[in-house]
Amino acid sequence: MQTTNEIRRSFLDYFASNGHEAVQSAPLVPYNDPTLMFVNAGMVPFKNVFTGLETRATPRATSSQKCVRAGGKHNDLDNVGYTARHHTFFEMLGNFSFGDYFKEQAITHAWTLLTKEWALPVEKLLVTVYHTDDEAFDLWKKIAGLPESKIIRIPTKDNFWAMGDDGPCGPCSEIFYDHGDHIWGGPPGSPEEDGDRFIEIWNLVFMQFEQAAGEIVGNLPKPSIDTGMGLERISAVMQGVHDNYDIDTFKALIAASEHLTGVAAEGESRASHRVIADHLRSTSFLLADGVLPSNEGRGYVLRRIMRRAMRHAHLLGAKDPLMHRLVPALVAEMGQAYPELGRAQPLIEETLEREEVQFRRTLSNGLKLLDEATAEMGEGARLPGETAFKLYDTYGFPYDLTEDALRSRGISVDKDGFDAAMAQQKAAARAAWKGSGQAADNEVWFDIAEREGATEFTGYTSTSGEGRV
Ligand code: ATP
Ligand code: MG
Ligand code: MG
Ligand code: MG
Repeated sequence: MQTTNEIRRSFLDYFASNGHEAVQSAPLVPYNDPTLMFVNAGMVPFKNVFTGLETRATPRATSSQKCVRAGGKHNDLDNVGYTARHHTFFEMLGNFSFGDYFKEQAITHAWTLLTKEWALPVEKLLVTVYHTDDEAFDLWKKIAGLPESKIIRIPTKDNFWAMGDDGPCGPCSEIFYDHGDHIWGGPPGSPEEDGDRFIEIWNLVFMQFEQAAGEIVGNLPKPSIDTGMGLERISAVMQGVHDNYDIDTFKALIAASEHLTGVAAEGESRASHRVIADHLRSTSFLLADGVLPSNEGRGYVLRRIMRRAMRHAHLLGAKDPLMHRLVPALVAEMGQAYPELGRAQPLIEETLEREEVQFRRTLSNGLKLLDEATAEMGEGARLPGETAFKLYDTYGFPYDLTEDALRSRGISVDKDGFDAAMAQQKAAARAAWKGSGQAADNEVWFDIAEREGATEFTGYTSTSGEGRV
């Protein structure tokens, strides 16, 4: 069996031996895009190369890029623990052509790697193309010899990528793996496509058009290639398991959390162990890349993920802080590929422990309040937004944690009510400040705080650089 570390190596070696420069993963905080909260795809560090703002000495590159999808359009936070294929932190393997090779060679490379180098069974693979992309359709027939029934035309934006309203854009072609009819789900484009039977492993983006103000205005002089494959998903396929959480890396992390809590990852506890293992990775990697927990912006996303994991540790009955004690297992699994993890280990452990000590002070009281507030509620009920706000304001419960806590009971949360309570508190703080007789120009600080807060916020709700690979 190939380990996940070996599969990453094998991917990079394949493309390096085909003339691609192997590039280190960029940090999770984008240095070239203030509108994006975290790097969420392999192409993000190369954006300026694709738009022509930057040039590189070599026209081909390959990387395994650290990605976080825990906010904005690409928010997989709520999927974690519940689907077989989503993480908040994952690695995206990619090969890139900056105006060099195009569709034919991109498809040839992908198909050769999957079916020759890695010898995956051809009959389990199927692909999608954008509905108007006859060229890609014909190339899949010619290169892979796939029957037409396994080249599915997709008419939605899912299969058309754009960098934003302006700049390069083009059709995608995605490769799916059929994990077998014992698993619920249907092929892409079918009503059951959200199931986990057919899992998307690789997205090939063919950048060929130029957009201005959301309209295609012409062809790119030099079409480019951007691809993204989830390392954990291809590991699952190659290790003969269906579920990402059953690959070697996750097995080791889940075993460590089972060992420390004394609770097996079965039944109701399964999701908790998965959430803990996943969130351990995202929080540790974010800390290693310099993000610190705080009450706004990136730091708040980090804190939300941490607290969510900490509630699950509490659910498993952990009497003491747990997360920091799992860091050695993570460093053992991933420290070689990502030396920054080992370097930051003391910082990661101290920060996780401090946060967990702090949050545990209010966690059980908050959960008690939540239990009381929902004691009479059945499935389909809705928690008032004010209660969710109180949990946030008094007990430090991020909104999504409350939602996650009620999910298994089928109770939702009134988000509008929560937002309204939040807005009301902000207005009250402003009024109190005015009433205090302080100079009126102090108001400017509220304006700045709100504006800055908003800037950070649009950061992770922005669609810039998203909707792609
Ligand atoms: P899905 O439809 O399964 O959510 P996606 O279409 O959002 O995936 P892309 O944006 O096309 O994913 O990203 C390229 C590849 O990265 C995917 O084909 C998949 O292998 C991987 N990937 C995407 N999101 C995740 C995630 N949350 N966890 C693990 N791997 C992911
Ligand atoms: Mg997705
Ligand atoms: Mg998809
Ligand atoms: Mg995709």
